[in-house]
Amino acid sequence: MNDKTTRHVAVIGGGIIGACCALALVRAGQRVTLIEPETPGGTQAASYGNGAFLSPASIIPMSVPGLWKKVPGYLTDPTGPLTIRWRYLPRLLPWLARFLYAGHSLKKVRRTASILWSLVHDSPDRHAELAASCARPEMVRRDGLLYAYPDRAAFAQEALSWSLRRENGLTWREIAGEELREIEPALAPSYSFAVLVESGASCTDPGAYVAAVVAQAVAEGAELVRTKADGFHIVDGKLAGVRTTTGTLACDRAVVAAGIRSKSLAGALGDTIPLESERGYHVEIASPDIALRRPVMPSDGKMSNVMTPGGLRAAGQVELASVDAEPDWRRANILMDHLRRTYPQLATKNATARWIGHRPSTPDGLPVIGKAKGCGEVVYAFGHGHIGLSAAPRTAEIVTSLICDTLAPIDTSAFAASRFR
Ligand SMILES: Cc1cc2nc3c(=O)[nH]c(=O)nc-3n(C[C@H](O)[C@H](O)[C@H](O)COP(=O)(O)OP(=O)(O)OC[C@H]3O[C@@H](n4cnc5c(N)ncnc54)[C@H](O)[C@@H]3O)c2cc1C
Repeated sequence: MNDKTTRHVAVIGGGIIGACCALALVRAGQRVTLIEPETPGGTQAASYGNGAFLSPASIIPMSVPGLWKKVPGYLTDPTGPLTIRWRYLPRLLPWLARFLYAGHSLKKVRRTASILWSLVHDSPDRHAELAASCARPEMVRRDGLLYAYPDRAAFAQEALSWSLRRENGLTWREIAGEELREIEPALAPSYSFAVLVESGASCTDPGAYVAAVVAQAVAEGAELVRTKADGFHIVDGKLAGVRTTTGTLACDRAVVAAGIRSKSLAGALGDTIPLESERGYHVEIASPDIALRRPVMPSDGKMSNVMTPGGLRAAGQVELASVDAEPDWRRANILMDHLRRTYPQLATKNATARWIGHRPSTPDGLPVIGKAKGCGEVVYAFGHGHIGLSAAPRTAEIVTSLICDTLAPIDTSAFAASRFR
């Protein structure tokens, strides 16, 4: 598929997006240098602490019609799944306005869902192939994903989301009553209905998975440089190198995959991207004395519950504030309370680990994958919000086509940075 020219590509950021891009580019015959100041897949990355869902169902944007009516509640209720910190409201208003507008009509939400489907519908297959090619097949579990509801009426309240999923081709099995007890004995009896997305999968250890993909890229020829990118060296309108805190790295192409920190790098090239952190949290219970048979998403908690090497993890919450604002650990406590309610056997358990991370989110719920305005040799790959783990392999394939000047595997026009210009 590639045009055989070998370029030196600097990939900025070693989260799941940068890791997958680095490996795909090496496999496409490019010389790759991965720039990452921290441990790839370490706690600084959203890719470390996420919910581990590899979900073809993750196509519904956060912003849907009628959401604006709930904003006052988000500002005042500290226990809901989405909160906005008052102090940051003035700075967030432009992003928030675009966010609400992006979901103001069903037509817009339907369009976003079908575009996201093109990124994630075959994510379990792609990750299974990727993990196997890194000699770590056990890192992807293909047991399906269980979306649990108190009852069928609660499920019906999400009819729009599920009908959009069905329109795009997702299938699932509805499970009620006794069968639900058999499928997931740990669930509280207050859940009497569930949807089993059998095609869904999960990652057993998201942080270690990133590290494994990076290690594979290095084994296949990439170089990992532990430094921080802070700009670009452009000569006569062409990329000559990536500026880092330890000097300039000469290269002919660059990929910006620095998660929430991509905004300033894009800014250096003349692209003002409205990228904000949808801050999320996780808690883990090291010895929960229950083992979920597959990941669960309880509808009322809006969190993913998944077994990891750290124990049972609950990941979720959306908190809009500044990326550098102090964590509000009450949000982790909310996850813990939900866990205790969802699985009665956890009633006396406490969290043994807690974490905050930054979903790199655009207001329209779509990532930015495309060439930079100020320099066509730089390709953006960030802004994946809630779906970055699931969408990483497909993103890497698109990035590789842009770097190698070959045909993109899907229509990429909706991901262009120019939509914000
Ligand atoms: C609570 C929570 C739950 C989630 N659950 C899911 C889920 O179940 N499924 C799913 O698909 N997605 C999920 N997500 C979203 C997913 O985790 C993110 O979309 C994804 O991890 C983003 O990956 P990334 O590589 O773009 O960014 P990151 O993982 O944040 O990686 C960016 C990397 O860039 C590095 N970096 C930063 N600045 C520079 C610089 N100047 N130079 C060089 N390197 C730099 C950082 O050190 C970091 O390692 C969840 C997110 C959260 C927070």
